Amino acid sequence: DGWNVRYVRLDDEGNAGTFGEEVRRAVKDIRPDRILVTEPGEWRVEEMIRDWRERFDCEIKLLRDRRFLSTRQEFADWAEGRKELRMENFYREMRKATGLLMEDGKPVGGQWNFDRDNRKPPKNRHDIPDRPRFEPDEITVNVIKMVEDRFPDRFGQIEPFNFAVTKGDAEKALDHFISECLPMFGDYQDAMVTGEAFLYHSLLSTYINAGFLDPLKTCQAAEATYVKGNAPINAVEGFIRQIIGWREFIRGIYWMKMPGYEDENFFDAKEDLPDFYWTGETKMRCISEVVRQTREYAYSHHIQRLMITGNFALLAGIDPKQVHEWYLAVYADAYEWVEMPNTIGMALFADGGLLASKPYSASANYINKMSDFCGNCSYAHNQKTGDRACPFNSLFWDFLDRNRDKLANNHRMGMMYRNLDRKDDKELAKLRERAENVLEKMRSGAL
Ligand code: FAD
Repeated sequence: DGWNVRYVRLDDEGNAGTFGEEVRRAVKDIRPDRILVTEPGEWRVEEMIRDWRERFDCEIKLLRDRRFLSTRQEFADWAEGRKELRMENFYREMRKATGLLMEDGKPVGGQWNFDRDNRKPPKNRHDIPDRPRFEPDEITVNVIKMVEDRFPDRFGQIEPFNFAVTKGDAEKALDHFISECLPMFGDYQDAMVTGEAFLYHSLLSTYINAGFLDPLKTCQAAEATYVKGNAPINAVEGFIRQIIGWREFIRGIYWMKMPGYEDENFFDAKEDLPDFYWTGETKMRCISEVVRQTREYAYSHHIQRLMITGNFALLAGIDPKQVHEWYLAVYADAYEWVEMPNTIGMALFADGGLLASKPYSASANYINKMSDFCGNCSYAHNQKTGDRACPFNSLFWDFLDRNRDKLANNHRMGMMYRNLDRKDDKELAKLRERAENVLEKMRSGAL
């Protein structure tokens, strides 16, 4: 398009090593009349831009971030004066505003949300389509080499590298998802299968977050497939809700709560993040499998992030800030605006229920129902106490017990507390003892 580009490589001589200092160096060299910058996705960068206004003698203009459909102001207006912020209400507004899956002002299919159809446990065998692979080009090969040299102790496995790194290839990934995976996306959205990190998920978050894919066009592609009769409503509505509902809502929450969101700690959780989040070395099959996938692909799907690694951190009382730093480090799609509310708000309930109406806490019962992990595990999913009992079980009851004053009044937790209250003192004492024993093992690296 005729733009001159100043391209600074990480290993260029003179690279100041930080974004802020590099902008300062460029301003000194180029002496621009004005700086045009897309509104940042991170509080830290917004602070930096505020600082530019004082330090640089030029106009600074913020441009709208087109990676989102709503503006930050629109979200703030919607949130203003509401007692409760619930994604579902925001999502309905977004459906009306975009016209996606709408007919004469009404939701297509007669209801807004088909989530109830999207919770099937895995089948014995899934025929999962192979994903397109994108051969690294010369630039990517050089970057891989640079990362290998500079970050020898990194967590993730760098090769094989299959990500799209251009808009064109990201569009091919979208086309492939829409034609091959979307029809099954809804049914098995919550299922977890050993050795199948992707199932029917889109793997598009990295591309949408980086700006390769436009969120509206991505949703319109899904809608068109429904109109042609090639994918069912539960799959298409579910996919569109993740993007125009959850993704936009999460971003709105981030800006509403920053700065300081990362310091929230409703349960006063203080345990250190166990080493097995990095090594995968634990006898808990579900966690070792999710960490393995994470290391290999810089990816794991939503339910694995939420109900395996997130749920364990919630139940075991791990310090939210350490959990947040882990999620931010390990996933290719991780940007603070999306990772932080998902971790602090959704997975850990550390904001006390601003984002979620109740904690996503679950025992081994849920994991066993929705995955095949428990079959080959050293721990027994159906035991609550004793050395072989799955750690999730005693931790689950202990979590409810120890946080009674904070949760018992939540009407969505009523059934769980009624079940807890049915336990006699002897059983409760055994559960507490097992939970303490699990935590000790976690601290000493023997879990
Ligand atoms: P699909 O299941 O195919 O969903 C389609 C799209 O919907 C995604 O590509 C994404 O753009 C959007 N989406 C779905 N769920 C969410 C959500 N909860 N929040 C925002 N967008 C959503 N997502 C990130 O993009 N970056 C993160 O750093 C991130 N960290 C997370 C941390 C935790 C603890 C949890 C519980 C969730 C996190 N998520 C994050 C949300 C979600 O897990 C990922 O967006 C999703 O797994 C990406 O895989 P996919 O593209 O195959 O998604």
